[in-house]
Amino acid sequence: MTTKTGSETVWITGDQCSMRNTALLSADKRIATVLMIESVDRGNLLRYHKKKLVLIYATMRHFRDQLLEAGWKVDYYAERPDFRTALDQHIYKCKPDRFLLMQQSEYGATEKLLSMLGVLSAEILPHCNFISCADDYESLHRSPEARVTMENFYRMMRKKTGLLMDGNAPSGGSWNFDKSNRQAPDQNLTSTPLRIFPPDATTFDVIEMVDRCFPDHPGTCKDWIYAVTREDALLAAKDFFDNRLDQFGPHQDAMLHGKPFLNHSVLSAYINACLLNPLELCQEAERRYLDGRAQLSSVEGFVRQLIGWREFMWRVYWRMMPAYKSRNELNANEKLPEFFWTGTTRMRCLKEAIDTSIDHAYAHHIIRLMILGNFALIAGLKPQETNDWFASMFIDGYDWVMVPNVIGMALHADGGYVGTKPYAASANYINKMSDYCRNCFYDPKDAIGEKSCPFNSLYWDFLMRNEKAFAGNHRMALVMKQLSSKSLDWRAGIRKRAEELREAGWQ
Ligand SMILES: Cc1cc2nc3c(=O)[nH]c(=O)nc-3n(C[C@H](O)[C@H](O)[C@H](O)COP(=O)(O)OP(=O)(O)OC[C@H]3O[C@@H](n4cnc5c(N)ncnc54)[C@H](O)[C@@H]3O)c2cc1C
Ligand code: SF4
Repeated sequence: MTTKTGSETVWITGDQCSMRNTALLSADKRIATVLMIESVDRGNLLRYHKKKLVLIYATMRHFRDQLLEAGWKVDYYAERPDFRTALDQHIYKCKPDRFLLMQQSEYGATEKLLSMLGVLSAEILPHCNFISCADDYESLHRSPEARVTMENFYRMMRKKTGLLMDGNAPSGGSWNFDKSNRQAPDQNLTSTPLRIFPPDATTFDVIEMVDRCFPDHPGTCKDWIYAVTREDALLAAKDFFDNRLDQFGPHQDAMLHGKPFLNHSVLSAYINACLLNPLELCQEAERRYLDGRAQLSSVEGFVRQLIGWREFMWRVYWRMMPAYKSRNELNANEKLPEFFWTGTTRMRCLKEAIDTSIDHAYAHHIIRLMILGNFALIAGLKPQETNDWFASMFIDGYDWVMVPNVIGMALHADGGYVGTKPYAASANYINKMSDYCRNCFYDPKDAIGEKSCPFNSLYWDFLMRNEKAFAGNHRMALVMKQLSSKSLDWRAGIRKRAEELREAGWQ
């Protein structure tokens, strides 16, 4: 090993606070200073939920303390107006010969940091929190027989990691246990409450700062429950493995009033901020299956989310950006309604979804996809406004994961690259998978009358608006056939009701 000379700076941003950070691992502690900057400008880039800002800044401050304890020199800039002014101070004070940075997760962000460094030398190290490499994904594009789908990618990742494999075959004889999962909820469905992490003095300081610097951002800092250190994030993971993993699968798609978390892991914010590593989580889940403490269908479902969906979305993002973010293949041009920011709507399912997002900066996958995303899809809301709303609202929201999930999975605005079929559904699905319709102002069985559920008329109107676009899609064939059998009068009734809703602000 060659001895380094001079001085170096490891610049760590808010979603990279890990001892596995590759820039940190490449640095020489004797000559390195870790630079960390809280930029208020960055926090104002979108109207981020206050809890998301607390998570980032509190994680940074705790990580600073952990680095100091481990013997690192740290140059920390709290509550600075922007990166530039703090960076200039750091360069003046520490006179680094070179910078080490881990790749940013957002397209173009690494280049922005590099441009601030000007002529100073800098090395970019790969991201530490993904399991696949670009070639894993590219190889699917090269293979003539395999379609580029999440399912094909996921099978490849199972083989690559050896997770849930018996030799070359999947454990239990199947790659996918969806048939045992995704059951409709029963009223007695229970789940152990989440382990919560009350704020310490450092987090309290951050809460005060966020309330003062970002008063107009959505949500509240009150009722803080999240972990902000790796130590606590590991306890949150243990809480999931001990109390919810076994039942994760069967009711993964269920939605119940007043139960926002059910048996979900609620770990995405920690994984995306690098407090937890996806592979260590999958390995622990697999151990629980092998020990007989969790059923295979649940463990497989959890592993699929991480080495399947999460990795797939990361690869889609880096392959398709920057054009991907502005795609709008279905020509959706309606403005995002104001009630997305307030939850003031008579649609009970949407109210529940927006309220939980405002309260916790969290909603589980099916609430995001089949309530919030589904409404935006069938109402024809502008993809980029919808994407910004999601990116603002959720504690785990980052460009790399939001864009493919919103533009691709939820809104089908990429023409079917992520999902072969749009996730559009009427009240039928919501009524089956939740208890929301029971106490709703609207009638889930009606599509045309005064109190008919908006999800019904908007669903059929969406199919009519896109009849040509979906004509060749074999996965839509059944529903398009159903549509083609409808009378002209019925179609006119649907159109009228959808138009009335649009004019009345959707309710
Ligand atoms: C419209 C929309 C927007 C979304 N925005 C985000 C986002 O900003 N950040 C984010 O991390 N996830 C996002 N997702 C994916 C998914 O909904 C969340 O990861 C999940 O709900 C987080 O809750 P959890 O930790 O309890 O997940 P669980 O249900 O317990 O799943 C386990 C883990 O799998 C991963 N995962 C599952 N599904 C996905 C997916 N589709 N894409 C990426 N990772 C996945 C997450 O890391 C998650 O923690 C979005 C999905 C949709 C439909
Ligand atoms: S009736 Fe319609 S609007 Fe009301 S909760 Fe059910 S799906 Fe939502």
